[in-house]
Amino acid sequence: MTAKIISGTEIAKQIREELKQEIAQLKAKHNLVPGLATVLVGENPASQSYVGAKEKTSIELGIYSERLDLPEKTSQDELMALVDRLNKDPKIHGILVQLPLPKHLVETEILYAINPKKDVDGFHPVNVGRLMIGEPDYLPCTPHGIQQLLVRSGVQIEGAEVVVVGRSNIVGKPIANMLLQKRPGANATVTICHTGTRDISFHTRRADILIVAAGRPKAVTADMVKEGVVVIDVGVNRVGKTAEGKAILVGDVDFEGIKEKASAITPVPGGVGPMTITMLMLNTVKAAKLAAGLA
Ligand code: NAP
Repeated sequence: MTAKIISGTEIAKQIREELKQEIAQLKAKHNLVPGLATVLVGENPASQSYVGAKEKTSIELGIYSERLDLPEKTSQDELMALVDRLNKDPKIHGILVQLPLPKHLVETEILYAINPKKDVDGFHPVNVGRLMIGEPDYLPCTPHGIQQLLVRSGVQIEGAEVVVVGRSNIVGKPIANMLLQKRPGANATVTICHTGTRDISFHTRRADILIVAAGRPKAVTADMVKEGVVVIDVGVNRVGKTAEGKAILVGDVDFEGIKEKASAITPVPGGVGPMTITMLMLNTVKAAKLAAGLA
């Protein structure tokens, strides 16, 4: 079997088209323009490129975008004051503070200072709690992107054995939580593996849907999966540079080996990555609608 490639680039394009129309209607009917502020502290090249892509996509879709680039030496108080200003700014419906922050800053204090109604990343404990009890305002972007990849590719999630490798707060735990909710596009039986799991292969071989967010190249190889599995590879690992100096990216699974056994698989790049940014845009539109009483 050679796997069908689930293209995040294509599915993200569809969702962006839908969003573009919705944004145009919000403007025409309600004079409402969703606004997103992106805050970047320091000069981490990967973060710069992520923030650049978020800004570019916002503008393409008709979202008002405010980009705030702060120097590496920005203090905790300065960053807290900026978050406070953005919390109060009616043009801004979503606030995204790009992580990781420089070491001297206390990330959790900053993230928890964001008004949960403007927390379009879905990282605030209020939004994490709402997700847990099945009443989310905002779904976190990468997990929501993964769920949409599965739903829009026609993968049967209800009743499936889903195995998630990785238990981070931004990918592993929330995607597991989302897929176990009793609702369409979920209702799966979910297992989470991590470095403390005794026999990872025992679990991954049972998976109908395998989601890997370990941050390790080849954390999952072909001998660890069953025929017909659907694989979502979340990993982004920089393993070198091309002759032109561009980063070479690989995922967390052995793509070449697994694609011969899987029924469907996401590539890296072009899989989960484009979906994450798209879901941020979707959350920003939702935040604007919530603020205007339209959602
Ligand atoms: P993270 O915070 O480093 O968490 C990695 C998780 O994987 C941890 O729970 C760790 O277990 C587990 N793990 C690591 N190696 C393992 C192994 N060999 N077997 C089983 N479990 C293992 O990473 P993250 O933030 O979730 O990100 C994961 C990957 O996804 C990274 O490559 C990241 O760049 C990528 N990512 C991509 C996007 C996107 O938009 N495409 C978004 C977010 C993240 P312990 O808890 O026991 O340490």
